[in-house]
Amino acid sequence: MQANGHHILIIEDEQPIRRFLKASLSNQGYRVSEAISGEEGLRMAAAQPPDLVILDLGLPDLDGQDVLKRLREWYTSPIIVLSARDQESQKITALDSGADDYVTKPFGVGELLARMRTAIRHAHQVGPEAMTVTIGDIRVDLAARLVYRNGDEVHLTPLEYKLLVTMVKHAGKVLTHRFLLREVWGPQDSQENHYLRVFVASMRRKLEDNAARPRYILTEQGVGYRFAAE
Ligand code: CA
Repeated sequence: MQANGHHILIIEDEQPIRRFLKASLSNQGYRVSEAISGEEGLRMAAAQPPDLVILDLGLPDLDGQDVLKRLREWYTSPIIVLSARDQESQKITALDSGADDYVTKPFGVGELLARMRTAIRHAHQVGPEAMTVTIGDIRVDLAARLVYRNGDEVHLTPLEYKLLVTMVKHAGKVLTHRFLLREVWGPQDSQENHYLRVFVASMRRKLEDNAARPRYILTEQGVGYRFAAE
């Protein structure tokens, strides 16, 4: 699938990764700009706002988290962060600071492209909100507050329903534990990760063919959950 000429800004100090990304993304039809430092990235984003930013968290001049926060003061399009394998907590901080998604180095370009397509698709969703959401065998009728799996109604508790709606509205996107807890239970309970585990286990029993190998409610280890995009 060609990428419609969307303009992507890569902020990454490591030249081999930058080169690889530029070649791969250009090949997919994206227009690519490159910045080799946080300051340069911020300058370039302001001069010509891109449709999506790929931001490395480990930059030589500024902390990637600070670059992210400064971008998010005005920039509303998607930001995908690149993090190293030993930066688990950084990933979560970045998502909570407004990053849309992350990939962990070393990553496959197919994975990054899929995340980019999801992020850009969400950013371009306009018009009235859909009344039903269908993903695979699951259909959520938001107006009637009913859930179907293969056409059969699935009985969810009110909190399970609220959690499912939060997930399907962000299908394809990683959602942190903190985000989900805040959305469903409110700010006072945002540390209670075990609530989520209990509810997700119950929802998987109701929605998945095999709760031990979920197809829809995917675990992002140490970070949160992602509802499959299709
Ligand atoms: Ca780096």
